[in-house]
Amino acid sequence: MQKILKDNCIYTMSANNVPILHISPGTQLQFETWDALHGQLGYTNNSFDGLDWTRVNPATGPVYINGAEAGDILSVKVDRIEIASEGVVVCGKGMGVMGAKFEWSCSKIIPIKDNLAHFSDTIKLPLNPMIGVIGVAPKEGEISCGAPDLHGGNMDCKEIKEGVTLLLPVNVPGALLAMGDLHAVMADGEIGVSGLEVSGVVTVTVDVIKSKTLPLPMICNDSHVMTLASHEDLDMAVEMAVANMVEYLTTEENFSEEDAVMLTSLAGDVRICQVVDPKKTVRVEFPKKYLITTKHLRKEGRKCHSCPPPPTN
Ligand code: CA
Repeated sequence: MQKILKDNCIYTMSANNVPILHISPGTQLQFETWDALHGQLGYTNNSFDGLDWTRVNPATGPVYINGAEAGDILSVKVDRIEIASEGVVVCGKGMGVMGAKFEWSCSKIIPIKDNLAHFSDTIKLPLNPMIGVIGVAPKEGEISCGAPDLHGGNMDCKEIKEGVTLLLPVNVPGALLAMGDLHAVMADGEIGVSGLEVSGVVTVTVDVIKSKTLPLPMICNDSHVMTLASHEDLDMAVEMAVANMVEYLTTEENFSEEDAVMLTSLAGDVRICQVVDPKKTVRVEFPKKYLITTKHLRKEGRKCHSCPPPPTN
């Protein structure tokens, strides 16, 4: 299996980035990644003094996927996330929801062992390794790896973890996939501006879906299908993520718009991924078990529960 080393990293996602590697669809490969601070904070140096902010949020890549063209969908299945044995969490002046309250900044190095993050001698958190930054080149211009948008990027979504498939738009030839910013554990919101930032290795299988339109980005896991949206305004991000889910349920799953809205209202959780990046990210999680019903209805020729059955001869 091919492995891209972490020194092959970018700080913006752009069509102008030179690919590190060309792969065919269906390829499994590994991305070695820096933590979000590019390894600048650790046991020997946990001070913000001298921190080079231009090296924050590196993403390993980009990778050119042969045959991927604008309008296609890039499917990234996260096979495995391996993380280092320590991570760093930060808070302080100007950072996160509470940033205005602080006159200083601080960091805490947290050991990771026995599948737990050892916050203190008495507080040990179960791990939930996730990918904070993952995306492709945007349609135009360049976007900092610290920002999320339609191309993915710094979505800081704790559901982008082992076992899921992330669907991203292909905007430029080859897509130019890159990723980094692993978190050993992070709560929804990421209110302090960081998760437990950690370096590691991500194994993914990358594929290209042709001739299909979906409201991207999306995540699929065993139990749920999710839409993601990012906006400077959290209310707008909610509206966009919900509209994307309704679009998915009506166009792909054959629900009427009314049923899609009602069922999402009853069973689709709206959750906040993060509120601390240049745009805030929201996801809507819809249980897959309710999609089975629509497949059954489709077989009968009915559009939704509310539609009358088709006439019989
Ligand atoms: Ca992040």
